Amino acid sequence: MISNTRRRRLVKEDLIYGPLPSRRLGRSLGVNLLGSGAKRCSFNCRYCQCGWTAQPTRPLDDVLTDLPTGDQVAEALETRLQQVCRERIAVDVITFSGNGEPTLHPELHAIVKAACDLRNLYAPYAKLAILSNSSTVHRSEVRAALEAIDLKLMKLDAGSETLMRRINLPAAGWEFGAMLQGLAMLDGVVLQAMFVWGRAANTAPASIRDWSDRVAEIGPRGVQIYTLDRVPADPGLTPVARGVLESIAEYARRRAHVPIEVY
Ligand code: SF4
Repeated sequence: MISNTRRRRLVKEDLIYGPLPSRRLGRSLGVNLLGSGAKRCSFNCRYCQCGWTAQPTRPLDDVLTDLPTGDQVAEALETRLQQVCRERIAVDVITFSGNGEPTLHPELHAIVKAACDLRNLYAPYAKLAILSNSSTVHRSEVRAALEAIDLKLMKLDAGSETLMRRINLPAAGWEFGAMLQGLAMLDGVVLQAMFVWGRAANTAPASIRDWSDRVAEIGPRGVQIYTLDRVPADPGLTPVARGVLESIAEYARRRAHVPIEVY
């Protein structure tokens, strides 16, 4: 069993971190827009590696006041990119991720624009990426910010509202249908799905059928599926066997007609 101390270490203390090797992205320079030391998220996923969300953020109703400003983010990113250039450290991707849901930041659009300019100046070969839980993608201003990002990695863990609520425990106000519509309107989206066994298992045949159908409706550029590789917030979850992940991918490729990779 992992200790609370070790669990806390998965919550970032820095605004910019890495570059760190990522299984799905290569060498990733992380940009944490959510502040240090605590998770700020509109979901409370049972599998979250950062532990439980103290109070899930309602995207439109809760104003997060103690986040780094856009100027602070740009300044810190420029400083780190200058250092990376000087020390000839490889960066494959600059990733908005960190302590929770990056699209909750009210200055997201301006920050993405600044990051684009800095990437072009210091690391033109690197892509911009975001890891989002999709909870805000129905909002046009969020989609406008996301459109400028090369790799939009968006969460979809289940194909029904009931099962998503059971796995992701969203904040009040979250709407499954609006999220699906927003995802379908976003160009070049890559969906990500975590499959788990245990208290909120999402691998039953009917669950996989529903999920595949939602994937088909969204029409993503690709899908990445995986299972637990860190200790989840909810100890009642266990990882799915690799062979089962392969079977899910094979079935969903045939049903949704999109590329699916297993990690
Ligand atoms: S969306 Fe990500 S950060 Fe938020 S609770 Fe889920 S896994 Fe954790």
